Amino acid sequence: MRLLLATRNPHKVREFSLLLGPHTVDPLPPEVDLPPETGITFAENALLKARAAVAATGRDAIADDSGIEADALDGAPGVRSARFAGEDATDEENLEKLLADVPDGSGAEYVCALAYVGVDGDERLFEGRCRGVLTAAPRGEGGFGYDPAFMPDDDHSDRTMAELAPREKDAISHRGRAARELLAWLASR
Ligand code: IMP
Repeated sequence: MRLLLATRNPHKVREFSLLLGPHTVDPLPPEVDLPPETGITFAENALLKARAAVAATGRDAIADDSGIEADALDGAPGVRSARFAGEDATDEENLEKLLADVPDGSGAEYVCALAYVGVDGDERLFEGRCRGVLTAAPRGEGGFGYDPAFMPDDDHSDRTMAELAPREKDAISHRGRAARELLAWLASR
């Protein structure tokens, strides 16, 4: 099956292409506009993006809305993870702000809401979570976003997400978990 992925984030395209094999993940055509993320939950935003892609292309689409919830910040930045340090903030700026705002070693959780919207109107939501702790300083070159400062509880090697190989991240990540739920549902249809 071919699935259109409603995102402009190349890291998400790379991760989903690996996670959803043998299905083919197609990037969003450049002329399609994605709506502003006005939802207050990950699920709402994922649905907004997937619905917009279906309406613009007439194809089945999936969309991920994801982020990090820090225990010390009562779940912030959450749906604002990509914009935590400002509307046009880079991953590095967002990460720096998060580390400045929380105590070393405090807990956090990655969340991924994955929406599937079919041209036939079928809508499904899948969710994956991944708990971990935030390090004092960033380490590693892999992954993206907050990965250099996130040590996942399910890995016991004291490495950050950015120090794991892509397959190792996929096995325990929020996105990996949501993607496997989607795969199971696609296989059961
Ligand atoms: P979205 O495009 O609104 O879903 O924003 C996702 C944001 O959450 C990214 O820009 C990252 O800051 C963060 N994020 C989501 N998934 C990951 C991940 O797997 N690793 C690190 N940061 C992530």
